[in-house]
Amino acid sequence: MLRLSRPNIDEAAIAAAAAVLRSGQLVQGPQVAGFEVELQAWLGCRHAVLVSSGTAALHLALVALGIGPGDAVLVPDFTFPATGNVVRLVGARPVLVDVDPVRYCVTPQGLEAALARWQGPQTLRALMPVHEFGAPVDMAAVAALARDRGLHVIEDAACAIGARFGAMPGTLVGSGGDVACFSLHPRKTLTTGEGGILTTDNDELALRLRRLRNHGMERSPVGLVFHEAGYNLRLTEFQAALGRAQLPHLSGWIEQRRALAGAYRAALQPLAQAGLLSLPADHAGHSWQTFMVVLSEHFDRARVIRDLAAQGVEANLGAQCLSALAAFAGCALDANTEGVSPVASRLYDQGLALPFCEQYGEAEVQQVTSVLSQVLQPNRHG
Ligand SMILES: *Cc1c(COP(=O)(O)O)cnc(C)c1O
Repeated sequence: MLRLSRPNIDEAAIAAAAAVLRSGQLVQGPQVAGFEVELQAWLGCRHAVLVSSGTAALHLALVALGIGPGDAVLVPDFTFPATGNVVRLVGARPVLVDVDPVRYCVTPQGLEAALARWQGPQTLRALMPVHEFGAPVDMAAVAALARDRGLHVIEDAACAIGARFGAMPGTLVGSGGDVACFSLHPRKTLTTGEGGILTTDNDELALRLRRLRNHGMERSPVGLVFHEAGYNLRLTEFQAALGRAQLPHLSGWIEQRRALAGAYRAALQPLAQAGLLSLPADHAGHSWQTFMVVLSEHFDRARVIRDLAAQGVEANLGAQCLSALAAFAGCALDANTEGVSPVASRLYDQGLALPFCEQYGEAEVQQVTSVLSQVLQPNRHG
């Protein structure tokens, strides 16, 4: 079976993690501190704070910015549910905004229209754009919207490490808001198993994030000081060692992913022209965590996935439409309508993520294209 993706853990990374296991120091210590310094340099930010998952990063960002009951946060309606879950879990209301059909992200125009229409009883406190699958959102435009209205910006860059906005070389995502969150889950380009990164240029916020991830605690010359009630969301030392071993390869991997996306786009063009599917928009700065096409309406996606699997190709849906999920009932922009966003809903129903990672090349693209062409033959589907 050609897998959807494979984590890229080489023998050097395994040896680095094994050495940490032999050292006896297992949780947040010099490996975590060293990885943070290296991430700061790579991401070009003042502070990188490692935590136990991308979801933990998003959750801490909200807590550290003081967002809670009575507050509302604009969240894209097409994303992994964690983006909206954390807003619910701090007691705030996610306000779901539809996305654009070819980049699968909220646009600054979409956010601006939502801001104009929003009139719930809660206080709007933050914008939470998602760089979906690595497609960069124009953060300068989002930051301008937020500044005019005194809102915070939390970037969900969970799947977008290395994505860049603007004419290349462009600006790395993760530097456009108050705080950005990255995931180190195995489905992401850089992985420590579980893991997450918060980045910020705000010294005070970074200090608060570091305390909150570790029981509200800080080491001082007089001993441990407990400043406030905190969580335990630390990363382990052996996970940090895994990440440190991979980081020098990350830029090269992203380049390989850009080339693979180009090869897919060229190979799938005939299927797109035949109206069987649509392709994701290209952007030089896309970091291509996932390559998702959208099947035309008449296909039964579950059946397409089964048919692909029968021929040795693993495929899956891309992400969820939150307004279609029970956890987000009543969170559509217009609370009084039970509206489901039309674009996000179509992407949720017809999106198809294809095998994609930097270890794949032209051979895999040809295999997937050939199998997909057979599966989508007009006579196989009504
Ligand atoms: C992966 C992902 C998350 C969750 O990250 P975890 O590390 O799995 O907790 C959140 N948001 C988006 C957009 C993601 O892709």
